[in-house]
Amino acid sequence: MRIFSCPACGNIVYFDDQSCTHCHSPLAYSRAERAIVCLEAGAYVDADRHRWRLCRNFHIGCNWLYYDEPGTDDYCYACDLTRTSPDSGDQAHHGYIVDTSHAKRWLVFQLDELGLPIVSHRQQPDGGLAFDLAASTDDQKVMIGHLNGVITIDLTEASDSHRENLRMLLGEPYRTMLGHSRHEIGHYFWQTLVSDSEQLAPFRVVFGDERQDYGAALTSHYGGPRADWSSNFISQYATTHPWEDFAETFAHYLHITDTLQSAGAYGLGMTGPADDAFTPEIVASLAAHPGVDFPAEASMADILAQWFPLSAALNIVNKSMGKGELYPFAIAQPVAEKLAFIHSLVRHARREARAF
Ligand SMILES: [Zn+2]
Ligand SMILES: [Zn+2]
Ligand SMILES: [Zn+2]
Repeated sequence: MRIFSCPACGNIVYFDDQSCTHCHSPLAYSRAERAIVCLEAGAYVDADRHRWRLCRNFHIGCNWLYYDEPGTDDYCYACDLTRTSPDSGDQAHHGYIVDTSHAKRWLVFQLDELGLPIVSHRQQPDGGLAFDLAASTDDQKVMIGHLNGVITIDLTEASDSHRENLRMLLGEPYRTMLGHSRHEIGHYFWQTLVSDSEQLAPFRVVFGDERQDYGAALTSHYGGPRADWSSNFISQYATTHPWEDFAETFAHYLHITDTLQSAGAYGLGMTGPADDAFTPEIVASLAAHPGVDFPAEASMADILAQWFPLSAALNIVNKSMGKGELYPFAIAQPVAEKLAFIHSLVRHARREARAF
């Protein structure tokens, strides 16, 4: 994810902000300009005097624009990819739809960044990209999956407790709504970029022959994982079938490139050992870094001056992995003063303890 600033005041704003926390200007995301823009009377006029308006899904957190011309509907590109969905006014589904739509916008943003072509089901009803959102019930389970351009999402996976239960039940290390979206879009790109193309033969060399029986492969997977899976696959699920291996690996490609972009956008970067060989010299130089010592001489204001940009960066890094913010708190000035009190308390106690 990129870093954005408020066009009105220059303050840092986030990709999903509907207004500036600093100057309160109403904001929207322009996919055409890949920028956050200010709205005036609910509209944005671009350099070519084209008029854009805020997506009708504003109430479920969407901050994207749609092109305002006769004959267009009033959904943005990302929301228009949703083909079917329960009523977002339904209290039971509202929060799930908010989270799921957020993951979808994040996904589309990244595909745009990577320059990956998607064709909407609006332009191509057969095989175009569409999302069907539905919520599992006790009587009827919704299977997350992809078929001929249509990605089906089980909205109940937006429930943290439900998703975490499933994650533990299936013995997975990681499970998020953004992760599901990235996996399923992998299937979409297998269909559009690999099948029926000259990429199919090289795909089979790397991932194996996808013509093996998919149903039988899935059944044998749920019978138990292969012991040696981690030496050849990114996840246990990837072992089931070359299609799943491709989708799992594709999702990780999106995890890694987005998270690195987020870190880079905030100036976070590591030049470390190219592989995971931490030599004794490297470990020694890291251990000697001044940052690892207790900042006894620094003031609390100095510590916070480092913490604010770092926590903002790590929050975006976490969100790039489809997780919540690492530090989902705001430190108001009175809180900073309380922290300063504790810092001086710690410094004092430390000095006293050292005196003995
Ligand atoms: Zn502002
Ligand atoms: Zn929208
Ligand atoms: Zn899959």
